[in-house]
Amino acid sequence: MATALCPGSFDPVTNGHVDIIERTARHWDEVIVAVTRNPQKAQSRFGLDERQEMLREAVDHLENVRIETLMGLVVDFAREHSAEVIVKGLRAVSDFEYELQMAQMNKQLSGIDTFFVSTSPEYSFLSSSLVCEVAKFGGDVSAMVPSGVAQRLKERFARDE
Ligand code: ADP
Repeated sequence: MATALCPGSFDPVTNGHVDIIERTARHWDEVIVAVTRNPQKAQSRFGLDERQEMLREAVDHLENVRIETLMGLVVDFAREHSAEVIVKGLRAVSDFEYELQMAQMNKQLSGIDTFFVSTSPEYSFLSSSLVCEVAKFGGDVSAMVPSGVAQRLKERFARDE
């Protein structure tokens, strides 16, 4: 059985992420979505449990996708779970340099290849951080994130006011 690994912080999951996961799930028997603590993001907006819960709701319609937690190196996780490839989404040139570097490092460390899926144009401007910025100031993000996420963002920022 061929397994692909989609790692990310998903803080929170957006429709751009869901699109990449759906398309990956069409090509591999099994997809593991691994939620990381991103070392470059000092503070998470949502806790790990909440990020996973939002993801589970968002991919509930995909039978061959499961959500896991990733604590250490992505390549160690991939090996432990017998994932043969890492799949990442690419939005713009700005993603490319970092993602290429990561892919080459992961290949060097483990021999595992990274496949890139290009974003659907309607999601190319979407990022978790931008969605949160918009939601924070009362903007409507319901077309950009799964409904459970839109609801949680609303509650979060109502509380912070
Ligand atoms: P990270 O924590 O590594 O920054 P994210 O959780 O933001 O990761 O995203 C995980 C993966 O999803 C990355 O490969 C990222 O490029 C991709 N991604 C994020 N937003 C989109 C989008 N709108 N369209 C396509 N891919 C995306």
